[in-house]
Amino acid sequence: MGQIFNFAAGPAQLPPELLTQAAADMFNWEGTGLSILELPFTSDEYRALAARTEADLRALLDIPADYQVLFLPGGAYAHMGLLAMNLLTPGQGADYVITGHWSQRAAAEAQRFCRVRVAASNLQTGCRDIPPPTTWRLDPAAAYCHITTNETADGVQFHETPDTGDVPLVADMTSDFLSRPVPVTKYGLIYASTQKNAGIAGLTIVIIHHRLLREAATEIPAVFDYRRQAAAAGRVNTPPVFAVYFTGLMCRWLRDRGGVTAAARAGEYKSSLLYRIIDAQPLYDCPVVPAARSRVNVCFHLTDPALQDEFLTRAEECGLRFLAGHSDTGGLRASLYNAMPEAGVQALAGFMNEFAAHRQPA
Ligand SMILES: *Cc1c(COP(=O)(O)O)cnc(C)c1O
Repeated sequence: MGQIFNFAAGPAQLPPELLTQAAADMFNWEGTGLSILELPFTSDEYRALAARTEADLRALLDIPADYQVLFLPGGAYAHMGLLAMNLLTPGQGADYVITGHWSQRAAAEAQRFCRVRVAASNLQTGCRDIPPPTTWRLDPAAAYCHITTNETADGVQFHETPDTGDVPLVADMTSDFLSRPVPVTKYGLIYASTQKNAGIAGLTIVIIHHRLLREAATEIPAVFDYRRQAAAAGRVNTPPVFAVYFTGLMCRWLRDRGGVTAAARAGEYKSSLLYRIIDAQPLYDCPVVPAARSRVNVCFHLTDPALQDEFLTRAEECGLRFLAGHSDTGGLRASLYNAMPEAGVQALAGFMNEFAAHRQPA
């Protein structure tokens, strides 16, 4: 069996050296004689691990001191509803910018708890671009304005941070978290589950400005009450210790490779290798306008859809796994998170060129 490259959207490929490290820490974590899985969350050791992970994250993303970093359970989908419960005051609504699958789900989930206004949407034009922020119809009284910085299923990504004035900007960054620098001060709240680009499943990171950590207007389970979790340093109950540990490994790994600036450069290089082939070969098509294309999830399809099954089967034979698109959007998708090496993308690029060469009329 040759090398396998995992192009899944998440849980996704991890750096092999970190898997080796985790395997060793499974039996003896940092010389304690304890498995990392046996570490009590009330111990000084866990506190130190969580504090170090938070400090590394703050350094990587340059998170100012007036923002709280929370390590929470639930996954990003849970926090789509929870953030509405935490941020809204009675009678307030929230603005949503719809750019694809995940922002729609964020709005639908928030709708269960609050009045949702769609400030802008690209649905009419088929989720191919980011609606220009100058055209957004923002409500100055909204509790917040929600965006999804990278649409994992559609391959659409914000490349600039919109300005929403006094209304706090809230962002689901699940799929492009730690893939590039972020001007954190332009956001009121950033959330991301870690199984895409920052670790394994089980942990959601919430970065929230102190000003937004007020008493919630509704009853919220204590574990999901951001203010209570902040006050308890994320230990209202048992946190996902192993997932926090793994995000810690990812932060150090990324730091040693030049941090998010280097990650952004690598993402640009890797994604452009694929977009160049998609644009050059008539067999491939990417409907997303170039200015809004994702550097993280390259979504495309075959202009002859009858060949898709063969494409996927052949790719698997070459060790190129999980290239099918999201079940709702179909087509093909190559997820290029930080752990995807250039060699993996080159292997996929070679495969795509070869597949196209053999399927095209002369
Ligand atoms: C994967 C994904 C989610 C869902 O995350 P869960 O951790 O499964 O809840 C939400 N938003 C975006 C942008 C995603 O890519």
